[in-house]
Amino acid sequence: MKNYADDVRKVLDENFDKFSNLADYIWEHPEPGLIEYESSKKLMEFLKDEGFEIENPISGMETAFKATYGNSGPVIGFSVEYDALPGLSQKRGSATKEELVPGGAGHGCGHNILGVGALGGAVVLKDLIENEKLDASVVVVGAPSEERDGAKTFIGRDGYYEGIDIMLTWHPESKNAIWNGGSLANIIVTYNFKGTTSHAAAAPQLGRSALDACELMNVGVNYLREHVVDSARIHYAYLDVGGNAPNVVQSHATLYYFIRAAKIDDALNIYERINNIAKGAALMAGVEVEINLKGALADFSPNLYLSGVLYDSIKEFGTPKFDEDDLKLAKELYETLDDNTKKAAVENMTYLYGDELAKEQIANHIATELAPFDGKYGKMEVISSDVGELSHYVPTAQMFLAASPVGTPLHTWQMCSSAGGSIGKKTLYSAIGSLATCGLKAALEPEVIEKAHEEFDSVIGKYEAPIPEDLKIRDPNIES
Ligand SMILES: [Zn+2]
Repeated sequence: MKNYADDVRKVLDENFDKFSNLADYIWEHPEPGLIEYESSKKLMEFLKDEGFEIENPISGMETAFKATYGNSGPVIGFSVEYDALPGLSQKRGSATKEELVPGGAGHGCGHNILGVGALGGAVVLKDLIENEKLDASVVVVGAPSEERDGAKTFIGRDGYYEGIDIMLTWHPESKNAIWNGGSLANIIVTYNFKGTTSHAAAAPQLGRSALDACELMNVGVNYLREHVVDSARIHYAYLDVGGNAPNVVQSHATLYYFIRAAKIDDALNIYERINNIAKGAALMAGVEVEINLKGALADFSPNLYLSGVLYDSIKEFGTPKFDEDDLKLAKELYETLDDNTKKAAVENMTYLYGDELAKEQIANHIATELAPFDGKYGKMEVISSDVGELSHYVPTAQMFLAASPVGTPLHTWQMCSSAGGSIGKKTLYSAIGSLATCGLKAALEPEVIEKAHEEFDSVIGKYEAPIPEDLKIRDPNIES
């Protein structure tokens, strides 16, 4: 059998510097969701120079794009993210918490290498298609604001995933593994209550409190918790409490809800029930309620067949290889984790790797081996990601590669430090190589796409976006 990884490595080795520089640029320009202006511009310029045709903006988002190379043969897709997190500015390669820009944003989820890793996979595959005159096409979809807005839901609803045969992506993590567990679907919604103000002592009978409605709604939802699926997670925050004067009846108040469950249908069902509770609360308080759906995203449904192909590709190309300095930094960063985090890391690593291999990874302070994958669904990641939404449009596989010490949580200064420095570069190399190897296999062996679609048709079938046609994503210039 042909070794695709060798072909990929040849092209990647010739080009790795430019990917590495691109990842540095993204890390040095950390921009939170929907304002990734510099990052998205740079990525689009890069792809344009590589011969991709760019569509931008898409779905009304200036920082979202679709880049296409070729117009025949199988269409291999790569999903790219590049948003940073507010307040996570951190010096790269440092084992102490040191802000680079006081109060600034930072790549605490490693999306600098996530984005360039997936983009690199696409570009290397494009080079191979070009060099070998293969009949295949490559598509890169750049989706902003993974962290908070679920942009892929809007991109999917608007048809930009149509025509893509398979989608590949990855996430920097503290382990090397296939993401074969799901993730939680999430419905994001605000409830705006409007009542009538009055003097709370002199004329309480004239007041209709929007704040009362919020409190009644939350009580109702807290009773609902007993009668929902186990996987459900319902959280709320007050966006507006109607003012800070107890002696004024609050005429306005707003609640912000996340409604999550292991399956999108369950989340939507709970959402409908919570809407009824909101309406009931409004009726009780004698106020009006406006329900504003902000976004929604499905659970991640990994395509197991395609995940198996990706797993073989990581094995063929190889997991990240770290040098002495990387291992030293990994040890120092690992020491900054608290005992509970380390304990959870042992449990997690043991679940994934089995006893012996887990011990070895922990002793190294950073994962170097690939966790075994048996082709079955694994334990759900109790988080939400809009890759879930994407996985309902296109057969999707994603992997984790270690870009930080064992047990490092995402959204931390440690991840920002690690993924931005030399460790992240080793991970980037492996990510590009593994994704390109998988893409090349899918481009050359028709059964990859056939089998992935067979599974997709039986597990997902036809999917309808969980948001209405006219819903627009948050305007970053108006809403924070
Ligand atoms: Zn992330």
